[in-house]
Amino acid sequence: MTSLPKANGFFVSDIEGRRLASAYYGQGRFFNHSCDPNAIVGFIRGVLHVRAMRAIRPGDEVLISYTELYRPVRLRHDALDEKKGFRCGCPKCLTDAAAPLKEIIGG
Ligand SMILES: [Zn+2]
Repeated sequence: MTSLPKANGFFVSDIEGRRLASAYYGQGRFFNHSCDPNAIVGFIRGVLHVRAMRAIRPGDEVLISYTELYRPVRLRHDALDEKKGFRCGCPKCLTDAAAPLKEIIGG
């Protein structure tokens, strides 16, 4: 496979965040993004694993992050627009965008 659908591919990175490969996992394409995800994805020997980070009630959507969550909201938006072609409007983005920068960085 030489190209991946922009919105449905996963980047496989090492523990230091260096991108090693791109992958397409059929069932992984069903997870939507949130900057306050309730699950995380990982890869073990090429198999996609999804792990809950907090309790997920029946009927709740399982949400993963498509970007680095430590980034400020503007940089998350830029990365999501570039990598996935959308602008996140999750509750965390709305809160972070409305917060003065000094509160975000603890000043
Ligand atoms: Zn967001």
